[in-house]
Amino acid sequence: MTAPFAERLLAWFDHHGRHDLPWQHPRTPYRVWLSEIMLQQTQVATVIPYFERFLERFPDLDALAAAETDEVLALWSGLGYYARARNLHRAAQQMVDAGVPATVEGWAELPGVGPSTAAAIVAQAFDERAVILDGNVKRVLARHAAVDTPQEAAATQRELWALAEACTPADRAADYTQAIMDLGATVCRRGTPRCEQCPVADDCRARIEGRTAELPVRRRRKARPVRERVLLWLEDGEGRLFLEKRPPSGIWGGLASLPVSKTSDGADSRLAELGMQRSGDWHSLGQVRHAFSHFELAAEVQGAAVSHAAVAELPGEWHAIERLVDEPPVGLPAPVQRLIRERGAPAFA
Ligand code: SF4
Repeated sequence: MTAPFAERLLAWFDHHGRHDLPWQHPRTPYRVWLSEIMLQQTQVATVIPYFERFLERFPDLDALAAAETDEVLALWSGLGYYARARNLHRAAQQMVDAGVPATVEGWAELPGVGPSTAAAIVAQAFDERAVILDGNVKRVLARHAAVDTPQEAAATQRELWALAEACTPADRAADYTQAIMDLGATVCRRGTPRCEQCPVADDCRARIEGRTAELPVRRRRKARPVRERVLLWLEDGEGRLFLEKRPPSGIWGGLASLPVSKTSDGADSRLAELGMQRSGDWHSLGQVRHAFSHFELAAEVQGAAVSHAAVAELPGEWHAIERLVDEPPVGLPAPVQRLIRERGAPAFA
């Protein structure tokens, strides 16, 4: 007779799972929460250096809660989905005021923490049984039980939650949670799964029925509309770049970005709004493309050397380009950071 799902998975985890992730030693609520927020939409290998830098600067909840939002965003620079960083900061302040929750419901009330993340935190930080259903787990369960209705549908979600509930064991909550996430990330991968290494292959319906490529089923996405913009690379004569502070909410909320113009023709009026004047022509400095969840940004980068009146109320700051390349003191959107790194030096020195 085949052993229960969790038993086989845990036996596999003991030998093949990930036991040396930085947030596992020690597994405190603060470290587990931080890692879970960073891991939303982001892979483990990308998260590790960010996690370590974050902990070095903010070793505990009090340090994070007391920080300036700009510093939190600066350390988050490049991880993307910046609402996560803003929510993390707000949640830290709430926990300093009201205490660290001990239940799934309590965690799920904090900004940026959904039901699955809340359960993952409770299971890992307190080793208490809690049922998770993140993207990796959905894929494993949908294949194992051959759930062939679209994942986005409410009925499918209910079915997957019920499967997750049935599979989750009473004991070893932290290990099971890590085990099923590891299985989804390393064996039952997006694309081609490695069924020959899978501990639950014996009764996996997708494998038995030869349907691993078609499961899980996703609704066909409409093509994302393309939004064309112009990013302005404005340099002063001292190797500094002007970065405008974005409004606190919306795309790139609270980050420092190159000023944006809707069109090339509008670039000069944006300059005038900023109280600047060009000292030469505009130059094309390349393209930036970046996919957001609801649209794709296609931006032309226009650069110019500029001079500026000494106005007190600039909606941004000048930053030495070398510093922005090596160690940005402000939070930058990932594509802007990439552009600065690729250029690596002033364009109009
Ligand atoms: S047998 Fe293959 S498809 Fe089924 S759960 Fe394991 S890796 Fe995924």
